[in-house]
Amino acid sequence: MDYYSKQISKLIEELSRLPGIGSKSAQRLAFHIINMPEDQVMSLSNTITDAKKNVKYCKNCCTLTDQDLCPICGSDKRNQREIMVVENSRDLAAYEKTGKYDGVYHVLHGAISPMLGIGPSDIRLKELMLRLQGDVDEVIIATNSSLEGETTAMYISKLIKPTGIKVSRIASGVPVGGDLEYIDEVTLLRALEGRVEL
Ligand code: ZN
Repeated sequence: MDYYSKQISKLIEELSRLPGIGSKSAQRLAFHIINMPEDQVMSLSNTITDAKKNVKYCKNCCTLTDQDLCPICGSDKRNQREIMVVENSRDLAAYEKTGKYDGVYHVLHGAISPMLGIGPSDIRLKELMLRLQGDVDEVIIATNSSLEGETTAMYISKLIKPTGIKVSRIASGVPVGGDLEYIDEVTLLRALEGRVEL
C-alpha cells in the first residue's frame, strides 16, 4: 500500500536494499533526501553514478581502482615479489594505513564459505594463482580469523605449497572472528611481523 507518493515509496524500496539499512532507516533517509537542496541531491546521485562507472578491478591485484593498474601495483617502491592476500579492499586499506608494509596485495573479494555456498571459484583465487607464475618470494595470507577466513587460508596454502613459494599466515593477536578493518595498527603490524610459515 502506498502511504506516500509512488516516487517516495520507490526511493524507500531502493534504499532498503542496501546492506544494513532496514525499512525504518530507509524511510528516514528517503525523507532526508527529499528535504535536501536539489543541488546536493544531484551531487550525491552524480557521485554514485560516477563511482560506479569509473571504478574497476586492478588487473593485477583485483582491488578497486579507477586505473587499469592500481597505484600500489604500479609503484616501483613496492616489493612486487611479496604478496599479501586479503579478503577485501577495506582490509588492504587497514594495512596501508600502517604505512609499514612495502609489499603488494591480492584482494579475494570474499572468503570460502561452504555454509553460504561460496566456493573457491567464487573468489579471486584463479587470478592469484596466475600471478604466482611470475617472480614471487612469499605469499602472506591475511584473511580474517573467522571460520571462513581460516578455511580460505588453509585452502590457499594447500594450493601454493606445491609451487615451492613460501606461504605464511599472519599471527594470532588478531582476535578470533575479528575483521581486519576494525583492528588497530599496532596489532596489525604485530600480526604481520609474527607471521608463521605454513
Ligand atoms: Zn593492484
